[in-house]
Amino acid sequence: MRSKYAVRFGFGVMVSMLCACGAGPDAEPMSYEQEEQQAWEEFRASAIFEPEINAYIVDGDIPLSDEQELREYWEDTRARLTQGLTVMRSGSTDVIWNTTQRYNLTYCVSNSFGTNKTLVVNTMAIATASWSDKIGVAFKYVPAQDATCTSSNANVVFDVSPSSSTSYFASAFFPNDARSARRLLITSSAFTTTAGGRDFQGILRHELGHTLGFRHEHIWTGCTTETSADARLLTSTYDSNSVMFYPQCRASGTGGYRQTANDFAAALTLYPK
Ligand SMILES: [Zn+2]
Repeated sequence: MRSKYAVRFGFGVMVSMLCACGAGPDAEPMSYEQEEQQAWEEFRASAIFEPEINAYIVDGDIPLSDEQELREYWEDTRARLTQGLTVMRSGSTDVIWNTTQRYNLTYCVSNSFGTNKTLVVNTMAIATASWSDKIGVAFKYVPAQDATCTSSNANVVFDVSPSSSTSYFASAFFPNDARSARRLLITSSAFTTTAGGRDFQGILRHELGHTLGFRHEHIWTGCTTETSADARLLTSTYDSNSVMFYPQCRASGTGGYRQTANDFAAALTLYPK
């Protein structure tokens, strides 16, 4: 499981050689920002403006007072309807936490992190809140279990433990894994890397996405050898800026890991608040 879903590095060269990433050989692909700007300008040009009340009219009769509100409406609508997130499947069932467990995702942080433990605790707090602030889940840090924070500790849902590996940044698990496999492993390189725009917090946001049942978003692009078997795209197309999309698989090759509005909108369909 670790080798399949870990955040890897040392991958950029292979990607640039093998990955067409949706761009034809004779076409200069638009960047994500350019595509967004073009789509926004097309929408704005088609919007109904009513000078009598100095407002845009959307959804037939809803007035929006300025372009800022119109932009927010456009972003929200696109996020709801178009892009984002891929969930793990087992047969015809989404692999997610049930309505009770999703509010009690307990974890410990191993004392074996030593001088890095405070960094891990604090960054886990930020990364877990980045999900729970927006969708219906709750992670709970249980420091009382830190001294026995191993794969066999049944008092927590998962353990956050160090790995001495030098071949990846961090790895995680899916909700249907047994306790012995429910580990969030962090290598020392995760603390300081900037590869592909990554940072430690972003790596944890990505790994926590796996723990909620989310697969790699780039599996729909053929960028890596990971297949889309046992996966379901939650919306009509993938989001290349998703927190679950490898930076090296994007046209830009960078951008790091942050959830997009699309990520949250799609995640809310599985974990409503
Ligand atoms: Zn991953």
